[in-house]
Amino acid sequence: MKRLSDIGTIKTILSKHGFTFSKALGQNFLVNPSVCPRMAEASGAGQGTGVLEIGPGIGVLTSELCQLADKVVAVELDKRLLPVLDETLGAYDNVKIVNDDVLKLDLNRLLAQEFPGMQVVVCANLPYYITSPVIMKLLEDRLPVAAITVMVQKEAAQRICAPVGSRESGAVTVSVNYYAEPELLFGVSAGSFMPAPKVDSAVIRLNVRRQPPVQCDEKAFFRAVKAAFSQRRKVIANSLSAGLGMDKAAIAALLERAGVPANARAEQLSLEDFAAIAEELTEGKA
Ligand code: SAM
Repeated sequence: MKRLSDIGTIKTILSKHGFTFSKALGQNFLVNPSVCPRMAEASGAGQGTGVLEIGPGIGVLTSELCQLADKVVAVELDKRLLPVLDETLGAYDNVKIVNDDVLKLDLNRLLAQEFPGMQVVVCANLPYYITSPVIMKLLEDRLPVAAITVMVQKEAAQRICAPVGSRESGAVTVSVNYYAEPELLFGVSAGSFMPAPKVDSAVIRLNVRRQPPVQCDEKAFFRAVKAAFSQRRKVIANSLSAGLGMDKAAIAALLERAGVPANARAEQLSLEDFAAIAEELTEGKA
C-alpha cells in the first residue's frame, strides 16, 4: 500500500475524488509524514486498546492508529470523505467510520457499543473552529478514556497547558485541569498541513484524572470559573460580582470566608481557591 502521508499520494487521491477543502469544517490535512506516527505512538494506542478519532479527513492519522490499536472508530462529519476513506483505509478491517457531528453524538453510548471491555484513548487532529467545545465535551461527558491526545493551534495548546495560577492561564486552563493533567508534547509547523493554516500547531495530551483534584459542587465550580474570567482584567471581587449578578458587599464577604484576596485576578487563583469559592456559592451559603 502506498504511504498515505506522502503529499503526491494525497493529491492524487483528492483529485481522483474531486475533493475540495472546506474552510468552514477546519479541513487542513496533515502532509508531514513524521507527525502522524509520533502522535499515534504518544496517544497510548496499542494492543488491547480502542481509539476514538475525531475528523479522520482522508485517514492519514487513522491508518497509523489502525496499525497500533485493536480497533479505531473515527467520527467524520463531511460525507464527501466517506468514499475517500473507503479507498484509503480499505486494507484495514479494524476501523469503523461514523458519519456524524462529534458535538451531537452520545459518545458514552458509542464507546460502550464499540469498545466493550477495552481500554480506550482519544487521538485527533481537531478541526480548530471547535477545539474548546470538543475538548470540553470529551471531558464533561466523563468518557471512560485514559488519555486524549489532540493537535490544536499552538496558542490554544499553550493556554491549555499553562500552569493554573500563571499569567498565561485562562478559563480553559482551569476547566481542563479539573478533569485532566495536560501535557504539551511537541510543536508542528503550519507547513505540515495542506492547505497550510496561518498559525503553527502543537500536540497535547490530556491525562484524564480518575477524580477531580478538588472536592466541591461541580456546577458552582464552573459558575465561579466562568464569572471570574469573564472580565479577566478586573480584580476577582468585581468580575465575580458582575458575572454572578451579586452585590459587591456579598462578594467581599464570600471571598473573605473562602480565604481568597478580593484584589486577586482570576489567573492568579488556584483550583483550591475556585473550589473554596464554589463551596461558598453552594446553596444555602451565598
Ligand atoms: N485527521 C485528518 C488529518 O490529520 O489530516 C484531518 C484533520 S482536519 C484538521 C479536521 C477534520 O475534522 C476534517 O476532516 C473535518 O471534515 C472534520 N470535522 C469538522 N467538523 C467536524 C465535526 N463537527 N464532527 C466530526 N468531524 C468534523
